[in-house]
Amino acid sequence: MTGQILRWNLFIGGHLSSSVPVRLVERTDKGQLVWLETGTPMWRTELPGRAHLRDIPPQDRPAEGYRVKADRWPLGSALIHQPAGAGHAVFWFFGRRQRFRGWYVNLERRVHRGEDIDVADHELDIQVAPDRTWQWKDERSFAEKTGHPAYWSTDEAAGIRAEGERVARLAESRAFPFDSSWCDFRPPPHWRTPPRSAPPARTVLRRHEPEGSSPSAS
Ligand SMILES: [Mg+2]
Repeated sequence: MTGQILRWNLFIGGHLSSSVPVRLVERTDKGQLVWLETGTPMWRTELPGRAHLRDIPPQDRPAEGYRVKADRWPLGSALIHQPAGAGHAVFWFFGRRQRFRGWYVNLERRVHRGEDIDVADHELDIQVAPDRTWQWKDERSFAEKTGHPAYWSTDEAAGIRAEGERVARLAESRAFPFDSSWCDFRPPPHWRTPPRSAPPARTVLRRHEPEGSSPSAS
């Protein structure tokens, strides 16, 4: 139901990177939209120094995963479209006074289970400006991870890139979700920033876990 709090859990190379409470905006058989509020209390994997999980090869990580620490979502607010069965999500990012800043296409694989949205990040992303010009992001680190057993094979990498190309064509043709839908979204005024959730139950996501239920069935 609208306003329900779900958890967006991002996994990189099989390990949890962050877990953020989000609110359900809309759910249909085509997918769902969730709202991620800037500053939301969240859990982030605790790493030494200023390291980022994506830069630590999975074989160099502790087998049981990392501890998590309390943090807050550091980026702007975002509306996230998660099309059912698709290998991507589209973020509308908003700045101060809810000004639309552009779209971000996150290539990913999702497993929905109950209130958890488990996202295996595919590293490669696309930034789409408000004028619909677009560019790949992180092509090099995507290539570096290709063929690693914790990430994706060469064949899977081709599929991930093809998914991105399909979404980029949508941006070029100004088709949904790049047709100006939702660019003026405002969360209902009675929605408070979600409270910090319980620490995430799982910090490891195996590569070939079943897809889980679709969002409409969960
Ligand atoms: Mg990504």
